[in-house]
Amino acid sequence: MENKIDIKSLQYDELKAFVAELGQPKFRADQIFSWLHEKCVNSFEEMTNLSGALKAELNEKCEIRNITKRQVLTSEIDGTKKYLFELYDGNLIESVMMRYKHGNSVCVSSQVGCAMGCSFCASTIDGCVRDLTASEILDQVYEIQKDIGERVSNIVIMGMGEPLVNYDNVVGFVRLVSDENALHISQRNITISTCGIVPAIIRLCKEQLKVTLALSLHAPNDEIRKRIMPIAKKYSMKEILDACEIYFKETGRRVTFEYCLIDGINDKPEHAKELADLLKGKGAHVNLIPVNPTPENNYGAAKEKDIKKFQEILEKEHVTATRRREMGRDISGACGQLVRRKS
Ligand code: SAH
Repeated sequence: MENKIDIKSLQYDELKAFVAELGQPKFRADQIFSWLHEKCVNSFEEMTNLSGALKAELNEKCEIRNITKRQVLTSEIDGTKKYLFELYDGNLIESVMMRYKHGNSVCVSSQVGCAMGCSFCASTIDGCVRDLTASEILDQVYEIQKDIGERVSNIVIMGMGEPLVNYDNVVGFVRLVSDENALHISQRNITISTCGIVPAIIRLCKEQLKVTLALSLHAPNDEIRKRIMPIAKKYSMKEILDACEIYFKETGRRVTFEYCLIDGINDKPEHAKELADLLKGKGAHVNLIPVNPTPENNYGAAKEKDIKKFQEILEKEHVTATRRREMGRDISGACGQLVRRKS
């Protein structure tokens, strides 16, 4: 296929410039943007207020890349839905929709697979095939909205992949999905979760985004972290925590630290104490997640009494900690359970 413009990945300003190049009046850009990002149509043919000639020109120069819903599983426990989508090139990704009292939250993937190699996570088992484009990340939200017939109010970029390795497309996605002329999802309701790519966190500080940064810490020291997360060999916890502090200072947004509790590895009182010493006084918030089973790891989830104790120790040191509600475990839709499937 010749190189056509992936029109759904263009920001509003970029689309305006492109439409001007075609010699079209400005309002055409508004119409096209609205078709793509408010009405979420899948073809130029559906853009009924455009002339036939313009539609033909758009078809020739651009493409609307769509993703196709292949399977939906619904959890019998909590109504969480897991989607399997096929991309234009046949690759498969998964996304998850969770219903909360405060609204519908969608967990999107940012890559096909993942190269980070965390020992507790299924998404990385077969490595990373490629990055997703901004439009492919957007389409996960659009297709899920269509499927449930309700508005999506929150987005977590916590599906398959490491979002800060696919930096430009992820930032492009955040700008598009929060654009007031598109779905207009508040950036405050968007979370980017990262295993700690330090230079990218520093870069993100300058983007003037209001998104929440979630840092997958999972350990109270570098030694344990290196055992379970290969990325820890590249960036130390000190470098990561310094970058998070800069993020907080520059954006005013508190960083959330994710900590998945693995029986016997990082869930003991001495680990909690060490973590508290590291985070106290920093306005940090810790999200505790008992590790979910995956096909390859034989980690056991922390025991109930250990989780309670862990949380108590953090709170005694004034580090706020909540326990993440596990959603969609019965459909393998919980954290770390999304996998790259083959068709
Ligand atoms: N690559 C990004 C985002 C994807 S993972 C990151 O590392 O943050 C989303 C979250 O689920 C991360 O905090 C990740 O560490 C966590 N996770 C992965 N596998 C898990 C498992 N088996 N049980 C619980 N949490 C897991």
